[in-house]
Amino acid sequence: MTQRTVFVNGDYVDEREACISVFDRGFLFADGVYEVCSVLDGRLVDFEAHMRRLRRSASELDIVVPWDDPSLLEIHRELLRRNALEEGMVYLQLTRGSSGDRDFHYPEMATPTLVLFTQAKALVDAASGHRGIRVVTQPDWRWARRDIKTVQLLYPAMAKMAARNAGVDDAWMVEEGFVTEGASNNAWILTAEGRLVTRELSHDILPGITRAVVCELADALGLVVEERAFTVEEAQSAAECFVTSASSFVTPVIELDGVAIAEGHPGEVVRRLRERYIEESRRRAL
Ligand code: PMP
Repeated sequence: MTQRTVFVNGDYVDEREACISVFDRGFLFADGVYEVCSVLDGRLVDFEAHMRRLRRSASELDIVVPWDDPSLLEIHRELLRRNALEEGMVYLQLTRGSSGDRDFHYPEMATPTLVLFTQAKALVDAASGHRGIRVVTQPDWRWARRDIKTVQLLYPAMAKMAARNAGVDDAWMVEEGFVTEGASNNAWILTAEGRLVTRELSHDILPGITRAVVCELADALGLVVEERAFTVEEAQSAAECFVTSASSFVTPVIELDGVAIAEGHPGEVVRRLRERYIEESRRRAL
């Protein structure tokens, strides 16, 4: 496999040469935020919205983003060019940097660390997008500010391992009987009355960029979106279930905790939303 060129604090370097301080707070405290932009036809999907959320996440943690959007766009594009990436993702991570030691308090003078790398992946033709995924629920044991996109992803990793060990594809997080979101995506149902339901924005979930676009597309397709919490039982008896995220677009959920959704086949509405989302993303990509 060819080695990637990655971006580290201003330099484009071979992935084997890239280095970060052992005192970096991203490493010691998970003190950092991230974004993932998908790439279609060598272009970036919803770049501006991802950068807006990056700035919002960083500002909630008093991390300064020392790059403006045009520079960040240029870095993304240069990485795509250097790695000849046509389809996949660009991962961006910004940490508070290092004070040269370990101390809980934020350092007064630290230069944030910025790292970006590309990941090649077939997104449009992903088998899961067509066949659907099977999901199990897990207690939502993450912290209480899930609206900030931080790199502390140990619990989502544990939840995904629990799903894998149960022989399924992914996990949905549940708190007090209500679904918050997927381990790395937003959760949706289509009710028997034909209304789309996804949890309202709050500190409980990440404000998904894909979620926001799907809300707009649903509107254009004449579908009503209800932003409210739903229970596991409501999802299990829903007409359709699906998840949204930058790297999975719109993906059908065909089983939840062993119960088949829509007889275990991707539904018509999720299929249409996925198609529309891909069309619209290709059209708008930068
Ligand atoms: N919720 C969580 C917990 C996530 O990790 C993600 C993916 N980053 C999402 C929702 C979906 O967000 P987006 O559509 O911006 O990828």
